[in-house]
Amino acid sequence: MQTFGSVDELRRPLAEWRQDQVRVALVPTMGNLHEGHLELVRRAAREAERVVVSIFVNPTQFGPREDFASYPRTPEADLAALALEGVDAVFLPDEAEVYPLGRSAATRVSIPGLMDDLCGRLRPGHFEGVATVVLRLLNMVAPDVAVFGQKDYQQQLVIRHLVHDLRVATRIVMAPTSRESDGLARSSRNQYLTAEERARAPALYAALGAVAAGLAQPGASPGALCDAAMASLREAGFDPEYVEVRDAATLAACAALDRPLVVLGAARLGRARLIDNLLIP
Ligand code: AMP
Repeated sequence: MQTFGSVDELRRPLAEWRQDQVRVALVPTMGNLHEGHLELVRRAAREAERVVVSIFVNPTQFGPREDFASYPRTPEADLAALALEGVDAVFLPDEAEVYPLGRSAATRVSIPGLMDDLCGRLRPGHFEGVATVVLRLLNMVAPDVAVFGQKDYQQQLVIRHLVHDLRVATRIVMAPTSRESDGLARSSRNQYLTAEERARAPALYAALGAVAAGLAQPGASPGALCDAAMASLREAGFDPEYVEVRDAATLAACAALDRPLVVLGAARLGRARLIDNLLIP
């Protein structure tokens, strides 16, 4: 496994692989890797002959009062885990490599509507930062495939939108959400939970599951089900931000239930902000 800090160096093996006509998959991450990230890496290895993982804690996707400074950074453990997975290359750029003109002069990617809804409404600027960094990584690596997690469902739709709209020649693959045995979606931010909060944390998954089960009943009212889920989260000591049923393809509010849907939720629990979602095909 080779590690690279500069895009010029990374482009050498990439050019060789391309010449040999082997496919390349990219897994973008912010590091502090857990089993969920490693499942994306395994999926990437099934999609392409070479796997590149990027590790970059992207400052532009954090709000001014968010956890950029304290976000867990564990590069040694990450590299050891990726070596065990047989990853070919790890890209660990610094900020100047990703934003060569500096942050304030940086070209940004914004998508009207999609970025201002749900998590975007509560985290202004977040998805613009995500789209901006992901497009940079896709341009730098030019992978055949890039793998993202269902856990960040809105993020994955933002990326699909920009790839389609900007004619990026990368196929986007969504890997299912990786969960702890009690249902909690794995996340680097779960370590912000105290032991007592951790024990209550699966209530978010359970609340979304109750909405999904309710939707299967005749005459179901998504609004009433989501209100009940919000109430159950408050009862479990969460500060819920939203629970919503949306069109799975567009995130549009849906009047009809005869199409693929997604139940999405976000809630604060102590220091952590947890998100989760369930697809209803
Ligand atoms: P992050 O390092 O949190 O920015 O996440 C990097 C990638 O891993 C993103 O595509 C996330 O959606 C994905 N990811 C994070 N946690 C999970 C999880 N529990 N299950 C599946 N994918 C995940």
